Amino acid sequence: MSDGEYDVIIIGGGINGAACASSLTGLGYRILLLEERDFASGTTAASTKLIHGGLRYLETAITQLSPLDAGLVHEALQSREQLLREEPHLVKPMPFVLPVYRGDPRPGWYVRSGLLLYDLLSPRKVSPWHRSFTKAELRREEPSIETKGLRSAYLFWDAQVEMPERLCIEYLSEAREGGADVRNYSSVDFIIVHNGVVQGVDYHDVMSGERRSARARLILNAAGPWVDAVLQTTGQRMQQRIGATKGSHLVLNLEGRGPKQGILASAQSDGRLIFVVPWLDHHVVGTTDIRIEGDPGNLRPDPWEVDYLLAEASRVLPGVGVDREHLLYGYSGARPLPAGAQISEAAVTRRSFVVNHADEGVRGLFSLVGGKLTTARKLARTVSRTVQGELGRPPTSGRPHALPSRGTERVSFLAPEAQEGLRHRYGHRAADVAAYAGANTTLSERISPFHPDIGAQVVYAVEQEGARTVGDVLLRRTSVGLTYDLGRAAAPNVAGIMQTLLGWDDERAAQAVRDYEMELHRTFVVFDRGAGRPAPAVDEPHRFEAESGG
Ligand SMILES: Cc1cc2nc3c(=O)[nH]c(=O)nc-3n(C[C@H](O)[C@H](O)[C@H](O)COP(=O)(O)OP(=O)(O)OC[C@H]3O[C@@H](n4cnc5c(N)ncnc54)[C@H](O)[C@@H]3O)c2cc1C
Repeated sequence: MSDGEYDVIIIGGGINGAACASSLTGLGYRILLLEERDFASGTTAASTKLIHGGLRYLETAITQLSPLDAGLVHEALQSREQLLREEPHLVKPMPFVLPVYRGDPRPGWYVRSGLLLYDLLSPRKVSPWHRSFTKAELRREEPSIETKGLRSAYLFWDAQVEMPERLCIEYLSEAREGGADVRNYSSVDFIIVHNGVVQGVDYHDVMSGERRSARARLILNAAGPWVDAVLQTTGQRMQQRIGATKGSHLVLNLEGRGPKQGILASAQSDGRLIFVVPWLDHHVVGTTDIRIEGDPGNLRPDPWEVDYLLAEASRVLPGVGVDREHLLYGYSGARPLPAGAQISEAAVTRRSFVVNHADEGVRGLFSLVGGKLTTARKLARTVSRTVQGELGRPPTSGRPHALPSRGTERVSFLAPEAQEGLRHRYGHRAADVAAYAGANTTLSERISPFHPDIGAQVVYAVEQEGARTVGDVLLRRTSVGLTYDLGRAAAPNVAGIMQTLLGWDDERAAQAVRDYEMELHRTFVVFDRGAGRPAPAVDEPHRFEAESGG
């Protein structure tokens, strides 16, 4: 079946593909975005979730005398400030404590100079500048941190995007509102090339198996760590572009006893910088950096990575007594870094590139290599200029994005924690979500005892945000599956609502819950220890069976 003609087909619905879709649609191009799995389910979901300039990259810039990396830090700091201003419900300032201990590879003067430079590179920043802590102040502020052997300690500010998945969905919503055709579970099988010029793609719907094709003047390969696999579908000999490294994280349930600020410390065993960051109701510890060959999909932390991260977190937080009993789950992702660098993993540049494959005999094909959550918007602007250079200005001027409603008062009929939850997750779209509960009061009931999320969010996810599985709703449209019981109590409720919306029979709904459990184990190493000690339930959630509608 043919989908017709587009100006640009974007392959990959992670943060970079989504930002490009939003930007190009805003300019008036006809866009088709195809994502093999769910939006944001690749590297975008597997990050440390920081919106930062990257102190580590500043160190690389200085020690490797790399103006490219200095440029990246400056660019990322500008992007951080922009995101703090433009997406305040999703991107929030995050304070970090940086302790320096006797024997650390980075002495205090070195750290302090780095922090000063970091602040100077972002002169009009939203958050305060860094400052130093005395030992007594540190003990008062963060009693859980190790102070034995402490030489100095600093407080500096970066930012966090609690759910990069929602930032990605936000960009895709903008693209959709501008007229883009945005499809998940659509896997590109072939890039069609005729006489050295791209013509379009053949792809299939992963759920139904239906085969389709679409034509376009330009194809943008935004497949992250899968960029080389997508290039192979041209059937041409193409140069390898990605040299991926694996990074792993642990999610710990410290039951309210963890640090209130992020911690950035030198690992005792190898001197690498590691993070312990408050996240949702838990803490994330990361990360490792290991070169990988082969398929970058379905990565999970190896036992030694779990031991390493746990040991380093435990060393820096003796006041908590971090141990295996706190482990909820671990996750890993592949950094889509440029291929060919013969230096250490940490020193490979995090800068992004737009590669034009015309030099390799394929005109109209471009790939995105590298990049960060933080700089996706910036990369999208570069891509937009490239596309304008190739295709000229679009015949129609940019279709304005539909203006979303901003009547936050329209959520006031909901329970206060549900109102707060909606504003926090959806910003100016909160009233649109609440409208579903206004039309059907059963949808104002909570779907889980551990979260304020309500049934209306499930309907909104399916009808407005392309959710097709229980995992799409619990792991990437809401954070219900990312904390406490990993969304297991909510899964049957979500399946019940989806059953009504999508016309599933009982067996299909039961299978959807089983599929969710399988997805948890495919995506995470699930420890179920911290999960055994969830926060006390405030009240019992409503049981949605096949009764919900709207
Ligand atoms: C451990 C780790 C920590 C990180 N921490 C941070 C951080 O704190 N801050 C930050 O700014 N950045 C961070 N990053 C970097 C950032 O997460 C990535 O650079 C970014 O998410 C890449 O997004 P992407 O859209 O290019 O790739 P992805 O998110 O991987 O998206 C590519 C998509 O392409 C799809 N795809 C593949 N093949 C096909 C096909 N044939 N057809 C259709 N679709 C296809 C995939 O399913 C995937 O969803 C981190 C990365 C890692 C790995």
